[in-house]
Amino acid sequence: MNRTRAVKIIEKLAVYYGETKADLSFSGLYELTIAVVLSAQTTDKQVNSVTPALFKKYPDFRKLANASISDVENIIRGVGLYKTKTGNIIKLSKMVINEFKGKLPDTMEELIRLPGVGRKSANVILSIGYNKPAIAVDTHVLRISNRIGFIDSPDPVKVETALMSFIPRKYWIKAHLLLIKHGRNICPARNPECNDCPVNKLCDFGKKEMSLI
Ligand code: SF4
Repeated sequence: MNRTRAVKIIEKLAVYYGETKADLSFSGLYELTIAVVLSAQTTDKQVNSVTPALFKKYPDFRKLANASISDVENIIRGVGLYKTKTGNIIKLSKMVINEFKGKLPDTMEELIRLPGVGRKSANVILSIGYNKPAIAVDTHVLRISNRIGFIDSPDPVKVETALMSFIPRKYWIKAHLLLIKHGRNICPARNPECNDCPVNKLCDFGKKEMSLI
């Protein structure tokens, strides 16, 4: 992989998909953070189905920090691991209030101290919430990066490092959103539609598939 090929891939995906935005519904940093924590191992659709009621009753970190566990569990019951996630979002809110003076931190080191926030979630918060260049590696980004040939590794941190080395910084936020969209539309885990893929001539896996036809 080289930067020229990486840029071509991102630019072709950008033309193909047009404007991209996160599929989670949120307004502001508080809602984004809670939605991201709830989205672990759950679809964005499921998260979006419970967050309107949650955010209506608990509109900020302070209110959620003082919420009753059973009430929050009832509201977010529709998402996977809702008991663990209830504990995490309440503890996270208490931490923002008590340790960060009510302001969500904006560094990786601080964000990953929050309950339920790992490196991927922190990168989503940094990029989507703070508009800071970062690439969050989820299952779609991991899979497509390996297929395209950005890297050959199952390790999300190595994939993140590889993507940051090949893709110019100005494209990092967009690249994350585009690769997720591509994974959901044309390049899913099973049966990628390489014939119809706008980057099939630039993709290691796609080139092999096409040579078999
Ligand atoms: S060519 Fe196939 S494997 Fe490569 S990105 Fe496109 S759909 Fe995915």
